[in-house]
Amino acid sequence: MKPEEVLKEVAEQTAGCNRCKLHFSRKHAVPGSGDPNASILFIGEGPGFHENQQGLPFVGAAGQFLDELLAGAGLKREDVFITNVVKCRPPGNRDPQIEELEACKPYLERQIAAINPDVIVTLGRISMSYFINNGKISSIHGHAFWSNGRMVVPMYHPAAALHQPSLREVVKGDFVGLPDLIAKARETRLNNPNLASLSQEESDDNQENGVTEQLSLF
Ligand code: URA
Repeated sequence: MKPEEVLKEVAEQTAGCNRCKLHFSRKHAVPGSGDPNASILFIGEGPGFHENQQGLPFVGAAGQFLDELLAGAGLKREDVFITNVVKCRPPGNRDPQIEELEACKPYLERQIAAINPDVIVTLGRISMSYFINNGKISSIHGHAFWSNGRMVVPMYHPAAALHQPSLREVVKGDFVGLPDLIAKARETRLNNPNLASLSQEESDDNQENGVTEQLSLF
């Protein structure tokens, strides 16, 4: 199947999904949007009020700031793919629960496999912990890690930066570094057919930084 076909199927499945209790309060599932062949995938936490209303990711205040951040990296929404670890809104914008993350995980896994991005940018702590075990966002934001043959870059969630103005310049600076990381990831993937071993080497570096690589926490 082509990436766009897989993404369409995932969108249809999430629209009718009842694998966890989040579907009870759902208006629209938010499977994600963007370029099915993007080399960069952004993963947030879960839809908020406006996203639930419109069925699109990051359309509220955090989304406006995300657009600004993307522009700082020379990127537009159409160039990237944006999704969340859970596709339905957790009521009152609470954190998604373990069983909700677990229930939604196959959708994200299919999206990652279909898009096959060079770089995954995690937005916020919950999305970060999907790929990086014991990571502390305050020390590892903006740094690149290898997970399952892909570069993963943890970033602060745009909403956190909106609530904490001192983070705004930090997250802006991290986004400015993205084009270099994308180029590095592309080159590395092209030059290393055997990325499993590369992951291991880089993982050793990660361990030295007190961060253990893992593919999934759930
Ligand atoms: N916050 C998220 O994590 N995702 C969205 O889609 C919107 C806000």
